[in-house]
Amino acid sequence: MKQFLIDLLGADGVLDTAADLAPYREDFTEIAPSDPDLVAFVTTTEQVQAILVKATETRTPVIPAVYRTNIGGLCMAGEGGGLILDLTRMNRIHEVNVDDMYAVIEPGVTQRIMKDYLVEHDLPLTLGYSLAPPDTSIFANALLGGLTNRSLKYGDQSQSISGLEAVMADGSLVRTGAWAVDGISPYGRVPLPDLTGLFVAFQGTTGIATRMAFQLWPLHPINRRLFFLTYNPTATYEVVMRLCKKEVCDDIGGLSWPSAKMMMGVQRPHPVPDEGEPVFFLYLDVTAEIPEEMAVKTSIIQSVIDEVSAMGEEFVGPLDIETLVKVNPAMEAFAQFPTDLEFLTNHGGGGLSWIGTYGPISRFARGAEVCTEIMVRHGFPPVIVSRPMRGGHFGVLRFITIFDKGDAAEVERVREVNRELLEALTGLGFLMYKTPVWAWRELKDRMDPGMLDLTKRCKKMMDPAGILNPGKMDL
Ligand SMILES: Cc1cc2nc3c(=O)[nH]c(=O)nc-3n(C[C@H](O)[C@H](O)[C@H](O)COP(=O)(O)OP(=O)(O)OC[C@H]3O[C@@H](n4cnc5c(N)ncnc54)[C@H](O)[C@@H]3O)c2cc1C
Repeated sequence: MKQFLIDLLGADGVLDTAADLAPYREDFTEIAPSDPDLVAFVTTTEQVQAILVKATETRTPVIPAVYRTNIGGLCMAGEGGGLILDLTRMNRIHEVNVDDMYAVIEPGVTQRIMKDYLVEHDLPLTLGYSLAPPDTSIFANALLGGLTNRSLKYGDQSQSISGLEAVMADGSLVRTGAWAVDGISPYGRVPLPDLTGLFVAFQGTTGIATRMAFQLWPLHPINRRLFFLTYNPTATYEVVMRLCKKEVCDDIGGLSWPSAKMMMGVQRPHPVPDEGEPVFFLYLDVTAEIPEEMAVKTSIIQSVIDEVSAMGEEFVGPLDIETLVKVNPAMEAFAQFPTDLEFLTNHGGGGLSWIGTYGPISRFARGAEVCTEIMVRHGFPPVIVSRPMRGGHFGVLRFITIFDKGDAAEVERVREVNRELLEALTGLGFLMYKTPVWAWRELKDRMDPGMLDLTKRCKKMMDPAGILNPGKMDL
């Protein structure tokens, strides 16, 4: 395989020494490291096709990877070793259609590359940005059904995929969506059968997508980010549920106060809050075409806060992001997207893990209470990030730990807290996304047998030799 890859990609397209492979052995999480045999950097669809033909022939595991920040061990080789297919050099933007509001991109296009492109070309369009670092793949986040600051309006990021070009395990090429018909633009996924789903949330186990048609959204000239401090989860999520039904916000975030403290430079906030501290803060993004529209939207927001205040709850706000940045420049990280939450990725210990789940917002308050108790009992500050999605039909509830990877006892504590959080959240009606293998095992036991069988049959049909990201869904 090594010589084949060198012939195909050139010597600088292949890594095989222990030193070069070291960064690929692990990710941010507590998941035990594992060794790949090789890393290959591809730049074209044809190279991906040739490699998958060879890999099927030689039964070589192939792990598609971009910036490897999925927080779930999904780009690690696993027990069988194998070839990590690094897609970072496939980073071209092939088309941006301003009238029909879509872009055609490759997997390596990062949030930063896409934003720079839109700004440089002065295009009145934007995209959903996740809280992931600027140099991470939009494409991978969409394939995984991740969430962004447009998820409240438009759903998880896979909903923005309007067509895919993908290489199957046998090297053949497929196009999905309206794009599959010669001469038709990638405007959407209907009315043909929606086979894009065969690649979404399969975690790189059914094919390697090489191009994505991806929806962009209008950029409005006026925007505000408002903050409210809140004093218990029930009040926080009551406001969130009511605001969703008013449809005035582009994005709503509910973050626990330890998250704010970390953002402001407290590296490890004490698990138990100080007397009188807020418990959460809400951030609300609002956009408008004209000042009058903004005024109406902000007054609707205030009326919701007033309604819940009348129920005896306390709120402090609205505080504008500009004011907060003046008080503490570290809040700049929250001023615009994409952002770099370095307090999570660059804190010295190297470890970052979470249980990130999707579920009904009506259960967020209970989820936050139960999981705060679990995190505090294990000695971790309750760092919680939550956001409603798809108009409020569901949302994300995520519990984050940072830790020292060199401290074996702390790594074990992370495993324990994650196991307990997952069990509690699943019991409360939440499902983990970007699911690591260990969590898949728990999930599978509760899955409808028909759905599990169909998922296995899809995998078998698309990857009969089982070479694509083996084991990642424990199928
Ligand atoms: C600080 C921080 C904040 C984050 N915030 C968010 C957030 O707000 N929302 C969110 O959803 N996520 C978030 N994430 C998770 C993660 O960063 C995002 O999912 C990110 O977009 C993943 O991009 P990546 O380039 O790292 O993908 P990778 O981790 O390299 O890949 C992710 C998965 O996709 C598969 N894959 C990659 N490319 C292909 C392809 N072309 N074809 C088939 N399979 C492929 C891989 O095998 C893997 O299973 C965050 C992560 C960090 C570190």
